[in-house]
Parts: sequence; C-alpha cells; structure tokens
Amino acid sequence: MSHEPTIFQKILDGEIPADVVLETEDCLAFRDVSPKAPVHVLVIPKKPLVNLADATDEDAALLGKCLRVCDAVAKQEGCGEAYRVVANTGVGAGQSVFHLHFHVMGGRDLGWPPG
Ligand code: C5P
Repeated sequence: MSHEPTIFQKILDGEIPADVVLETEDCLAFRDVSPKAPVHVLVIPKKPLVNLADATDEDAALLGKCLRVCDAVAKQEGCGEAYRVVANTGVGAGQSVFHLHFHVMGGRDLGWPPG
C-alpha cells in the first residue's frame, strides 16, 4: 500500500515552500498558512510520526525536543510567558495533517476551553 507524502513531509523535503522561523537537527517550525492568532507557528519533528498516539517511549526525547522548540518559538515571536501549545490528535480532535505537529499560538488573549 502506498502512502502519499503529507504536506508537511513535502515541506521537509523542500518540495513546497514554508515560512520557516526556526530549525533544529530534529525539528522544523514554520508559520501556519491560516493563522488563528497573531502568532501561529507549527512545530514538527523531522521524523514522520502521525500524531502523539503514534509515538512510543523511544520518541520521548524527541517529543521533549519539540516542546523545547515550541518554547523557543514563543519567545522568539514575542509571546512572553502567555502562549498555548496544541496537538490535535485524530480526526475527531480536528487533526487534518497526519504528520505530528504542535500549534504554538499567542499574541492575543486565548480563551479556555478551546472549541
Ligand atoms: O491540527 P491540524 O491537523 O488541523 O492542523 C493543520 C494545520 O496545518 C492547519 O492549521 C493548517 O492551516 C496548517 N497548514 C499549513 N500549511 C499547509 C497546510 C496546512 O500551515 N500547507
């Protein structure tokens, strides 16, 4: 069974452009094309995990690195100490791209709970 690469894999492969704000050995951070807040950046691992449910204990360090990148992005983008990190996991939670990604959102008051 062949799987079409996800749009984020195509970004990682340089096949389609992205507005990259930060890159590390393991992660890439780029602006969401349809921002829902003044700061809305996606942080993805370069490893093609589908979502958090697809990760295993072997990925624990990588997941930690992703969260460290989320915080670095929030600081770089001037969010101060008020920002939100979201990882929609599964269709029912709103996941639409099946490559693990963390939404880093800030720059405005963020209501709770999210929809
Ligand atoms: O959590 P979810 O899977 O719905 O998030 C996917 C996100 O990827 C959306 O916020 C969408 O705007 C973004 N996206 C993007 N660039 C693309 C395709 C989708 O930033 N080329």
